[in-house]
Amino acid sequence: MKYFKSEILSERVIRIIELGGVCCYLVIGDKKACLLDTGSGYGNIKEYVDTLTDKPVFVILSHAHYDHMGGAALFEDVYINLEDLPVFRKHGDMTTRYEEAQRIPETKTIPYSDMIPTRMKPMKGIKNGDIFDLGNVHIQMISVSGHTPGMMCPLIQEERTIIFGDACGVSVLLFDEYSSCVSEYLKSLEVLKTYENDYDTIYRNHGTFFSEKSLLDNVIECCHLILTNQDDHIPVEFHHYHLYAAKETNEFHRIDGKEGNILYSLDKAK
Ligand SMILES: [Zn+2]
Repeated sequence: MKYFKSEILSERVIRIIELGGVCCYLVIGDKKACLLDTGSGYGNIKEYVDTLTDKPVFVILSHAHYDHMGGAALFEDVYINLEDLPVFRKHGDMTTRYEEAQRIPETKTIPYSDMIPTRMKPMKGIKNGDIFDLGNVHIQMISVSGHTPGMMCPLIQEERTIIFGDACGVSVLLFDEYSSCVSEYLKSLEVLKTYENDYDTIYRNHGTFFSEKSLLDNVIECCHLILTNQDDHIPVEFHHYHLYAAKETNEFHRIDGKEGNILYSLDKAK
């Protein structure tokens, strides 16, 4: 079964898309390479990465959800914000991961034996402001807690590119026991906004993988609307949870044409 394909985005950045449509990013410096996220762990992403670069590769996980940390066990050096370790333990449950694979038509036939077992070895901690030098490429880590407590956005400085990942996107999920409430999430986004002059390009890990810079302002606006009870407050079902969309959508597209939305549970609307 073929699990991966890739797109060259620049001289130093490659997007790797796994079966099912989640992507991660490989950043290649003069000395080493960094894999930003590892997908869901369907097939061996390390073997695939080795076909793309001959530099030594280490991993930074943006957060601990199953569709970002699935291949982490394949690599020696793995970094994560340690505040996400409780999330890692929950999402690392192999039964849960396999059930997630079976939920999606493209991945439901993946044999269990092709799923990479969850990483058990310790990971190294990262925190806000950490900078990784790959050799003429630097990755700066920005903490954007909300979706998860340890959620981080990597800023690839020389590329003027930031990976928003699940931190800020077309349907930011704020509902489980590890997510922030909207007002705390808004504080994170306001900090993220202070980096706006450092990037021109926003990439994400799902959907179209790309957003215009207006995305951040649109999601900030959603926060304000939720907090003042002025959002569209559209009921939506997500994995059997009863959530609300801040803005009305037709599938993932807002009907007002803007991009950026929040799906939240009622207890987070404060
Ligand atoms: Zn996530």
